[in-house]
Amino acid sequence: MMHGYIPPHRFFPYLTWTDIDTMPNRANVVIVQPIGAIEQHGPHLPLIVDAAIATAVVGKALSQLDPNIPAYSLPPLYYGKSNEHWHFPGTITLSAQTLIQMLMEVGESLYRAGFRKFALINGHGGQPQIMEIVARDLHQKYDDFLVFPLFVWRVPNLPFQDLPPKELEYGIHAGEIETSVLLSLLPEQVRMDQAVAEYPPELPEESVLSMEGALPFAWTTRDLSRSGVLGDPLPATVEKGDRILNAAVESWVCVLKDLHRFRQPQV
Ligand SMILES: [Zn+2]
Repeated sequence: MMHGYIPPHRFFPYLTWTDIDTMPNRANVVIVQPIGAIEQHGPHLPLIVDAAIATAVVGKALSQLDPNIPAYSLPPLYYGKSNEHWHFPGTITLSAQTLIQMLMEVGESLYRAGFRKFALINGHGGQPQIMEIVARDLHQKYDDFLVFPLFVWRVPNLPFQDLPPKELEYGIHAGEIETSVLLSLLPEQVRMDQAVAEYPPELPEESVLSMEGALPFAWTTRDLSRSGVLGDPLPATVEKGDRILNAAVESWVCVLKDLHRFRQPQV
């Protein structure tokens, strides 16, 4: 039972080399790499949050995908670039250079095997930039290699309209959203009795700079939070988690279909 959330017939490591050697139309098979992080998520959530969410969303979407669409998931990459959480013990971080190098080499291995569609599906807010660099560099190096730097939380139709505006803006880590989803996925690993709300200190009203906006400043979590939480996990519930997860999976099924249909624009 090594496949976890990924349906076994979609789990790339269960294939043999001869399966791959004889696979028809490999150039149009979608290969997905779930990417997470092992990093602190406050006193109430386990380190695995981002890896669990990326893998569960990919796995559930692959389960619902039309069986005629060829798509496989690589084994999830648990580690990511988490140096913003560096001061909190338990956080494991790869450097940007290591993560870039590793994803480049995974991509090159797929290319060598004849695959031409590679989707990076990342669940950690601290590393979309890495995915973008890798995707661009792989495509520049191999111009028929179509690479997609994707972030789990950027799909449309996520049911966040009821979140308070403050949570929507500042609840970026271990807040209501992630806690609800973890209550849905791994309820035994959530310690609601330890949950605390903490928002970052506010900047002066006249400042055009912000934490994650168009004109951001660099920060580590310790600058902004004592508990490691950025947001309010207390209103989290299993029902909210189920709703968020179902909506995300539904949107990801559409994205996977689109990846299969996609042709690189050409002038
Ligand atoms: Zn997270």
